[in-house]
Amino acid sequence: MTSSIGQKFETVIGLEVHLQLNTKTKIFCGCANLFGAEPNSLTCPVCLGLPGTLPVLNKAALLSAIKVALALNCSVNPRVKFDRKNYYYPDLPKGYQISQYDLPIAEHGFVMIPVPEGTKKINVKRAHLEEDAGKLVHDMVAHSSLVDYNRTGTPLIEIVTEPDLRSSQEAYDYLNILKLTLQYLNVSDCDMEKGSLRCDANISLREKGSTQLGTKTELKNLNSFRAVKASLEFEVHRQEQLLLAGERIVQETRLWNDEKQMTLSMRSKEEAHDYRYFPEPDLVPFTIDQATIEKVRESLPELPAAKFDRLRKQYQLSDYDAGIIIQDQTIADFFEKCTQHSQEIKKICNWIIGPLLQEINSRKTGLAELSLKPQDLTTLIQRVEEGVLSNLSAKEVFALMVETGQTPDAIIKDKGLAQVSDDSALEGIVQSVIGENQSVVEQIKQGKDSAIGFLVGQAMKKSQGKGNPKKFGELIKRRLQDG
Ligand code: ADP
Ligand code: ZN
Ligand code: MG
Repeated sequence: MTSSIGQKFETVIGLEVHLQLNTKTKIFCGCANLFGAEPNSLTCPVCLGLPGTLPVLNKAALLSAIKVALALNCSVNPRVKFDRKNYYYPDLPKGYQISQYDLPIAEHGFVMIPVPEGTKKINVKRAHLEEDAGKLVHDMVAHSSLVDYNRTGTPLIEIVTEPDLRSSQEAYDYLNILKLTLQYLNVSDCDMEKGSLRCDANISLREKGSTQLGTKTELKNLNSFRAVKASLEFEVHRQEQLLLAGERIVQETRLWNDEKQMTLSMRSKEEAHDYRYFPEPDLVPFTIDQATIEKVRESLPELPAAKFDRLRKQYQLSDYDAGIIIQDQTIADFFEKCTQHSQEIKKICNWIIGPLLQEINSRKTGLAELSLKPQDLTTLIQRVEEGVLSNLSAKEVFALMVETGQTPDAIIKDKGLAQVSDDSALEGIVQSVIGENQSVVEQIKQGKDSAIGFLVGQAMKKSQGKGNPKKFGELIKRRLQDG
């Protein structure tokens, strides 16, 4: 369901995602495939498109593409063929892009997304391999544009859905699941800020009940999933207003303006025949043998959806907990390693979802960069269980574990954080708290049991967090009964 659309129309969306593959070298030459290098330092006659040079397909890019194909439940076309897509642009030195036209590497796949009724299948029409273009830099030198060919020839896989998405929310959910799946495959850093993952959105409306597709617009310049969602919402509204006024939708490409939060017409949409596609004569078609495809299939990791189901079943995690844990493979692995040392599943989960993710987010790093061992976390949990640590001190110990990589026991000892549980040490504190809070004591004596919590809090403060709150509670009660 979309927020703005009324009763009359249904929203129809199809997404095209371009993903840069993280191969060591480019797709048709030996240049390094790196982001952020000195402009034009990673080029050669092949990727600059100089006459007389010939492309050679990078096998690693092909294997990554097969990986993506299988993970998206596509059938892999064993016959590999490339085509030239002809157009002129300053960032495209050859005057054509090597892509795949009528025989993409992958077809007929699907991705399952969550919907209020359960899950929904979003069909993947095709995924094909192609080369990226260079990059124009417009605002560095006044009145001119500069071109950087480092990106030229970066391997891309383009993943195209059928027009199966019915709302901006579904589009957003699809993108998140797709990205997570691609991250699991480790074929790309999937970083939208670097342009490693880019999305174009196609959208049309049609009258409810109609099975024909309406005229679509294609939205570009979408720099985040949030922008995809916002631009689709804007476009639903715009198209709806036009159709209600009896006007036609113009088939065109529109650019999202993030500042103005609106789409603006860029150009009329080009058709496939405008590109004069023809088979790439410099790359002879060849066949991938089935054994290669099977080998790639065996190398696939457990994918997010499967991990989600397994974690829920194996550890009785809630959908919420499992959903967060699977957002990062290293976190999921860490969680499972912890469970080998401790049966306190829910506590492990809470520590990971709470303090651990907070540390990771605030440090803007990954779990791998923190020197935290699964067994140290489970020991920490155990020390709280044993009453050695208060919850408060445990948080402090945890922060130090992350900071220093020391074991919890070493930190507890170093910092003298062990909870004081023996009665004599706590008695003195209880006595002074009672002395200082006579009015509260009166209330308790008159039956207001909840006020005991206040005294426990005061005692904890006095002990600088080292007292055992349960013990304090007992001692306070005993003393009030006696006195
Ligand atoms: P084009 O030839 O214009 O590039 P494609 O058939 O290749 O169109 O589709 C591009 C994307 O647009 C796909 O994701 C497809 O699902 C989606 N799409 C196609 N037609 C429509 C439509 N009428 N409304 C919404 N999305 C559409
Ligand atoms: Zn090169
Ligand atoms: Mg297309």
